[in-house]
Amino acid sequence: VTPDPSHEPEVIFPSLPPLHSGHPEIHLRNGIMNASRLSAAHEPDAEKAFFVGDLSVVYEQHQRWKACLPEIQPFYAVKCNPDPYVIRLLASLGAGFDCASNNEIAQILDVGGIDPSRIIFANPCKAVSFIRNAAKRGVDKMTFDNADELYKIARAHPRAQCIVRILTDDSKSLCAFGIKFGAPLVTVPGLLAKAKELNLDVVGVSFHVGSGCYDPSVYMDAIMRARAVFDMGKEAGYTFTLLDVGGGFEDARFEHAASVLTQAIDRYFPDRKDIKIIAEPGRFYVSKAFRLAAHIIARRAPLSKETSQETADTTSDQPAVMYYINDGVYGAFNCILFDHQVVHPYVLSMNGSFHISDSEPKHVSSVWGPTCDSIDCVSASTVLPSSLQVGDWLGFDNMGAYTVCAASQFNGFEVSNVIYTTGSSGSAEVRAALAAFAAEGHGL
Ligand code: PLP
Repeated sequence: VTPDPSHEPEVIFPSLPPLHSGHPEIHLRNGIMNASRLSAAHEPDAEKAFFVGDLSVVYEQHQRWKACLPEIQPFYAVKCNPDPYVIRLLASLGAGFDCASNNEIAQILDVGGIDPSRIIFANPCKAVSFIRNAAKRGVDKMTFDNADELYKIARAHPRAQCIVRILTDDSKSLCAFGIKFGAPLVTVPGLLAKAKELNLDVVGVSFHVGSGCYDPSVYMDAIMRARAVFDMGKEAGYTFTLLDVGGGFEDARFEHAASVLTQAIDRYFPDRKDIKIIAEPGRFYVSKAFRLAAHIIARRAPLSKETSQETADTTSDQPAVMYYINDGVYGAFNCILFDHQVVHPYVLSMNGSFHISDSEPKHVSSVWGPTCDSIDCVSASTVLPSSLQVGDWLGFDNMGAYTVCAASQFNGFEVSNVIYTTGSSGSAEVRAALAAFAAEGHGL
């Protein structure tokens, strides 16, 4: 890939600690990940896998959000990727935060300058000690979907602003949550009566259509249900003021989802001047902002194919070559197991060059992580150049959501580091905004 020389070299955040001397030097130009000296494996750390976090993508997703859903304040779902730069950038852009635990709450409040009212404790089943901690830290908004939770909240945080999480159709998503969370509508009147009896304030309704929602039409039904629960609230003596439409937003379908949601809100909440609407997007903000570069550390190939390029064969679907890279399903690629992702490796550099010709002979190959476990398969079948070998690099796009946050160090392999960039956006506005953000001293 030839970088466009009209673009200036990317800015790496000045406040970041300097890169290891032996670490690959990264340049991001024109949105394409390039890396130099990637084959300098004799230098310490030079072969380590690494993420590239492009903060301009996070910024642009936020602009997209504001353009399509101007009425809805995003409360970024920290669990999706608790990256400190992402958090700080979103905080500076005025987002709120959806936290699931004490540590997530602490991470947000420790940034400084974020009022606890910008946090929703959106875990309907919390430890009592966590509820008590939320009370101590001034985090009042919290969800519930069962009576036991109401008793716990009444004991540990009687001033809480409770939000009833309801069950909605989550069958059109990569990760459904309804089997674990969400009050069926028939149970809501009883829950609201119990909350009243316990002197608790219920302020609104939340739902989650499931993460990675591929059919945004489900938002229509979900908003209809939320409307019904607002009416149940009135019956129970509450005046709800908060509607939380949850997460589930996907990059490719975002505009469609926003349009369905807007229509649904217009239809079911035509008079909403006293209602604040929030959402809990995670994946939408970070998925495509992070890419991963992984080093081929080992290869298993038949001896004959190792020596003869003529045997290249893309017609067989049996992998001819097995590549082993230095991140796997126990690390960044846990998204394959937990988040039902399918990843697509591409060649980042081969034999020290970034110029990979399309006419290279190719093999059906498989790609494996570095651990001793056979579940550690990154791609069971993919087509890669026949001459790809140990020391070359593979790239993976869309690695920002539910990856680094759940990575383990199984077998002693370290979690891959992130290298940050303000990206390759040609937009002067994006560059200026991120330069200002960096100048404010958002160091780690
Ligand atoms: N809110 C809650 C309560 C969640 O459990 C999740 C994901 O697990 C999210 C929001 C974020 O969802 P998404 O990444 O699909 O936007």
